[in-house]
Amino acid sequence: MNKSTTSRSAKTFRVAGLPGDGVGPEVYQSARQVLALMDACFNLSIELDEQLIGGAAVDATGNPLPQATIDACKSADAALLGAVGGPKWDTNPAEQRPEFGLLKIRSTFNLFCNLRPIVTHPTLHAFSPLRPERLAGVDLMMVRELTGGIYFGKKWREADQAEDVCRYTRSEIERITRAAGDLARQRKGRITMVDKANVLETSRLWREVVSQVLEDEFPDVSLENLLVDSAAMHLLTRPADFDVMLTENMFGDILSDEASMLCGSMGLLPSASLNESRFGLYEPIHGSAPDIAGQGKANPYAMLLSVAMMLRHSLDCTNEAEALEHSIYRCWDEGILTPDLGGACSTTQITDAVCERLSSSANTAG
Ligand code: NAD
Repeated sequence: MNKSTTSRSAKTFRVAGLPGDGVGPEVYQSARQVLALMDACFNLSIELDEQLIGGAAVDATGNPLPQATIDACKSADAALLGAVGGPKWDTNPAEQRPEFGLLKIRSTFNLFCNLRPIVTHPTLHAFSPLRPERLAGVDLMMVRELTGGIYFGKKWREADQAEDVCRYTRSEIERITRAAGDLARQRKGRITMVDKANVLETSRLWREVVSQVLEDEFPDVSLENLLVDSAAMHLLTRPADFDVMLTENMFGDILSDEASMLCGSMGLLPSASLNESRFGLYEPIHGSAPDIAGQGKANPYAMLLSVAMMLRHSLDCTNEAEALEHSIYRCWDEGILTPDLGGACSTTQITDAVCERLSSSANTAG
């Protein structure tokens, strides 16, 4: 349930702000600047409750997801994360690694539904390794199951052998299929399900459950099945054919990074991880980018598009989300880009440019 309050003058929401590590705090700062402007532009007040996660939390508390962070998320409408991780913590034991904080926040809040929209923009076609004619009209929504599968299965290690168990239950597959079905209905009505059913038993269960749920509850939604190896190829040869791509945890992780290159850079792709009560964790799909951290070069667009997803999915502020997206697209059209997209702008310059366009669109609308 939304913890927002509405008064005569403003809608107020609370968001847990989790800057994290590496470029995380840099792109988080952009989000902060844009959110601060929402009040003046749209009478929308967003209180940020900033907390530690990842390596920064390990350094301060020994725990990548401290209880204070969990408590802040519990009393918030949504959480906004920069990125976690970095070489400094790579040799830590599993439970003191930054990424463990991310897995734990997903499981604590039951964030089973990960959405990664992949939409190509004509101005940026030149930055994708694919030819422009392949990129025209790409608008696909990757729906990735996020709290099951091999990332969460039992793990063990001996000196010379190790095991990671991949387990899925019928109910886990049913709920993500319903989320994908609902989305497909609002889009072009097509789901492509990706698995490895020729080899994996979990994939055979996925096929059975997905086709049953769609047949019973979404007869108007069409289903195509693809093996993951083949899907990796089809994403490059016919990306515009896909509408909703539904997949389990690890395949979705890999395919969405591949798909990010359709857009031109990892720095452009947002994500939402949702539970059944609309609470969501919003974050760019990229990591902490240690190779460019601290240089002011991080591309903040993925983070700002994640803010737009948060406004739309958890805060129900569709107009504000659209205004922010249009301000971003205007910047792209005007060539306001970071070095990963051949530009020369800094993170701060891009943030200022988006804020200027957002203010002017609000003034025009007002
Ligand atoms: P990465 O996404 O951090 O970086 C991959 C490449 O993309 C790098 O060359 C980087 O410079 C570039 N890049 C990423 N974000 C960018 C941005 N905003 N602007 C411009 N360029 C950008 O992936 P990696 O190098 O494999 O991982 C680095 C660390 O991040 C690791 O510790 C990893 O575990 C962690 N990680 C965290 C998350 C997360 O927080 N959700 C996701 C993936 C990886």
